[in-house]
Amino acid sequence: MSFAKSKVIPILCVILAFLPTNIHAHQKQIAFTFDDGPHYKYTAEILDILNKYNVKATFFTVGSNIERFPEIAEREHREGHQVANHTFSHRHMKELDENELTKEILKCESLIYNSDDYPKFFRPPEGVLSEENVKVIKELGYTPVLWDIDTKDWAHASVENIVENVLKNAKDGSVVLFHDFVSGTSSTPKAIDILIPKLKEMGYRFVTVSEMKKFDLAS
Ligand SMILES: [Zn+2]
Repeated sequence: MSFAKSKVIPILCVILAFLPTNIHAHQKQIAFTFDDGPHYKYTAEILDILNKYNVKATFFTVGSNIERFPEIAEREHREGHQVANHTFSHRHMKELDENELTKEILKCESLIYNSDDYPKFFRPPEGVLSEENVKVIKELGYTPVLWDIDTKDWAHASVENIVENVLKNAKDGSVVLFHDFVSGTSSTPKAIDILIPKLKEMGYRFVTVSEMKKFDLAS
């Protein structure tokens, strides 16, 4: 017995010493997500700010806007962000039968993905999903993604309100809903420029949706 123990403990130590250390294991995760773009101005400003802080985010894009601003959509891919599906024309789920929903998703998909192994995430317009919708989405190979913090930037919340809302409600695993396409003026670029360094100081690590533990498709 003592022989076995004396062998096992040094071997365990050697194994532990060579295991890759997960330096991010203790860090809280947060995912910034941006809906409805691309937008020629706001998405470009948001991408510049994300680059400044070396942060990757997830863009739930609308196919018809990719057709309008393909160079911005290309930038999202090129700069390492996750591009995800938010339908082709942003119609509400309630208006769509199974066939129409499938078309909305696949038409957007054809503009986003050129590789089958790209992880597929879908967010419904306005975040409303029926059980039937979920079935269709999953059959198409998608994971539905909602959020736990709504910044209300779509309703033109002020920079201060957005910052306060996110800092007050952020927790490990938070998915924050922003919009990179709004009509009129947007507080979003300014708000994220304030939020990113503050959240980093608070110990958060920025991840894309597919990097987030709770959406880990392998588990
Ligand atoms: Zn939307």
